[in-house]
Amino acid sequence: MCEREFQGDRHNFPESTNRPLGFTAYPAIIAAVNMTCDILVVGAGLAGMAAALACAHKGASVTLLDNADPAACLEEEFDGRASTIAARPFQMLRRLGIDERLGDRAEPITDILVSDGELSTGVSPLTLHFDADTVGSKALGYMMENRHLRRALYEAVSDHPAVEYLAPVTVVDIKQTALSVSVELSDGRNLAASLVVAADGRESRVRQQAGISVMKTSYRQKAIVTTVAHEHPHNGVAHELFLPPGPFAILPLSQNRSSIVWTDSPRAVDAAMALPEAAFAAELARRFGNMYGTVEPCAPHRAYDLSLQLCETYVDNRIALIGDAAHVIHPIAGQGLNMGFRDAAALADIVTEARATGQDPGIRIEQYGVRRKFDNFVMAASTDILNRMFSTDFAPLKYGRRLGLGLVEQIRPARQFFMREAAGQTGDLPSLFEA
Ligand SMILES: Cc1cc2nc3c(=O)[nH]c(=O)nc-3n(C[C@H](O)[C@H](O)[C@H](O)COP(=O)(O)OP(=O)(O)OC[C@H]3O[C@@H](n4cnc5c(N)ncnc54)[C@H](O)[C@@H]3O)c2cc1C
Repeated sequence: MCEREFQGDRHNFPESTNRPLGFTAYPAIIAAVNMTCDILVVGAGLAGMAAALACAHKGASVTLLDNADPAACLEEEFDGRASTIAARPFQMLRRLGIDERLGDRAEPITDILVSDGELSTGVSPLTLHFDADTVGSKALGYMMENRHLRRALYEAVSDHPAVEYLAPVTVVDIKQTALSVSVELSDGRNLAASLVVAADGRESRVRQQAGISVMKTSYRQKAIVTTVAHEHPHNGVAHELFLPPGPFAILPLSQNRSSIVWTDSPRAVDAAMALPEAAFAAELARRFGNMYGTVEPCAPHRAYDLSLQLCETYVDNRIALIGDAAHVIHPIAGQGLNMGFRDAAALADIVTEARATGQDPGIRIEQYGVRRKFDNFVMAASTDILNRMFSTDFAPLKYGRRLGLGLVEQIRPARQFFMREAAGQTGDLPSLFEA
């Protein structure tokens, strides 16, 4: 047992409650450094909340903190994006009870249609089709609006007895020692943990304070995200249409709606964003063609700069990076958050292994770096190549990729490989991803 040191600014955790640490295996260390919790997660975005829950699920005591006011993050307008969560990461959400909280707001993706085309001439006849039946699954993945996912995760962390949520607070200093890592907060409090998880996004302060360098490059593309309502049902089909300036994705949401990710050059995106509402709606409808009958935007549209960011290392003496703090990739395949969820599940496995061997999680963290860095690098490189290959009008590449789509469609093992990839079934599966 360990005395809690802080008061106030806490969410759903009764005042004056002493919370036992999840680990009993390293009592001498706990006593020596007055440990506040096993794991301190900095950043309560989608990846940070998932990591807090996953580690608590495996028996760790977790403190989760964020510098933003949770009420502001739960506003409808905070994040207009929707996320494709592949079948295996969704399995983790099931195990953590998030799917029940989402209810029918998680829309199954039963088919993915990948096609190459041009706005003037339409879609090429060489289309690649993935379907859930072929991989023996009910769905290849699920689509959900980030606002619903964020609320479901927030409610779950708030209800979990082993997770304490502190916000708004900022980390001003971090001290790493051989026995623990301690964090000084903006309000003067000090917390000590076995491990700090940096889930504080692409500009991660924790990463900067740990001196971990990052490679950044801009895609010189932006993405417009919005939601549309349409006349005809989507029947669970996700469309990825590759146009020369960038991919145009139509992703199925509940209630005859779809989420749009429209990638284009910064100049074209800025011009589209400046259009009056009616002209913007007409431009969107032009890209849909007749596919779903009448199409109407039913949410504000927002633009995002697209970049690639990879870290030199994921771990540094009792600090682990996850989510966008560790990697930012092109949204072409909807994999960024899926990678963050895989990071969270891999951390949870470290917790399990530490408990089983009587070690503290902070000293086993090198294993996490080994497991995740290569996997995330491969995904980042694949999405980068995919974007470069498809976002061009260069004739040899254009015909080559159309041929490629046609070939993959015809070769069953190749098609199956890509379908298993889309469902998140490949690679070293963490235990929370198991069926
Ligand atoms: C257009 C677009 C579409 C996408 N679509 C998909 C998709 O379909 N599927 C998918 O898997 N991925 C998708 N992604 C990627 C996905 O959205 C991100 O990978 C994911 O949201 C990152 O979550 P995160 O929790 O790591 O980071 P963030 O969402 O950035 O969260 C970071 C948190 O840390 C907090 N914070 C920041 N600094 C501090 C500090 N100093 N102290 C304390 N707290 C701090 C912030 O307040 C925030 O709550 C898409 C991305 C884009 C741009």
